[in-house]
Amino acid sequence: HAKLAGKSRYHLFDADLDRSIRSHHESLERLQQALEQEEFELHYQPKVNMRSGEVIGVEALVRWNHPTRGLLPPDQFLPIIEEHPLIEALGEWVIRQALAQAAAWHNTGLPLAVSINMAAHHLNQRQLPERLTALLAEQPELPEGSLELEILETSALGDLTQISGLLEACQHIGVRVSLDDFGTGYSSLTYLKWLPAGTVKIDQSFIRDLLDTPEDLKILAGVLGLAEAFERQVIAEGVETLEHGQLLLRLGCELGQGYGIAYPMPPEAIPAWCAEWRPPAQWAGQMPLPAN
Ligand code: C2E
Ligand code: MG
Ligand code: MG
Ligand code: MG
Repeated sequence: HAKLAGKSRYHLFDADLDRSIRSHHESLERLQQALEQEEFELHYQPKVNMRSGEVIGVEALVRWNHPTRGLLPPDQFLPIIEEHPLIEALGEWVIRQALAQAAAWHNTGLPLAVSINMAAHHLNQRQLPERLTALLAEQPELPEGSLELEILETSALGDLTQISGLLEACQHIGVRVSLDDFGTGYSSLTYLKWLPAGTVKIDQSFIRDLLDTPEDLKILAGVLGLAEAFERQVIAEGVETLEHGQLLLRLGCELGQGYGIAYPMPPEAIPAWCAEWRPPAQWAGQMPLPAN
């Protein structure tokens, strides 16, 4: 019996494995096709100065508008192609699309910087600065600083000297760099020390429970101090509530992004949102916490 069970289990495993390999292959092909058929779209989430009310830019977030399954978030398809050359093709599409959108806004008198998220594979491309130069040249009216790369801490893993050289070259052509999900990787401080990123984007996990977790408050205060010492800008992601914004302002963190400010939205919705958004009254006149 044991033998039989073992054997059938083995068969079952084999079939599962086969199916999973086949479906992985199929989804890769399907994603390739999705790219060719323009099934991807970008939604944009505003980044603001919570004190002045200025909209400092928007982050492009990719979605797959699947014909039968609806609008799929990136975690449903990016992992499939993360290690595949297709991620570079998608990344290139994202940059081109975001820059075209920024140029369109610019031409209607709405100068918005766009941030795009960079996958490890794409980042490690040696010709990245040349590619970016070519993509920027497609939108000659865009001023310097209109494009920002958000680098995942985990994705920078690789040769730090090479990555920092690449990022320096990017900044040389007017592309800004920000460290995304800051604080979640193993080497946050190493990256802060070695990577020439103008901005540190504090991960939403440190913001979420800020109000009742003193440890998060201390981490946040520490990151703000470090950022100041390194002369980096800080933006908080995951600002979900009025209280989050209030506390961040009191700690001296003025830049924020999150559902409490705006959800990611299709590009058509951005101009009206920018025209209408004001910081909530509760955020006005927040005095920084006394240093102690
Ligand atoms: P991320 O760059 O850290 O983006 C923030 C994610 O948190 C987004 O999810 C956003 O919709 C969500 N978010 C924004 N505000 C809040 C908030 O207040 N509370 C909570 N709980 N969540 C909030 P999304 O769009 O599903 O993207 C997930 C991740 O996928 C992104 O994390 C980014 O790493 C990656 N990603 C998105 N677009 C691209 C892309 O075009 N290329 C690459 N390589 N990665 C992308
Ligand atoms: Mg990001
Ligand atoms: Mg993030
Ligand atoms: Mg993230």
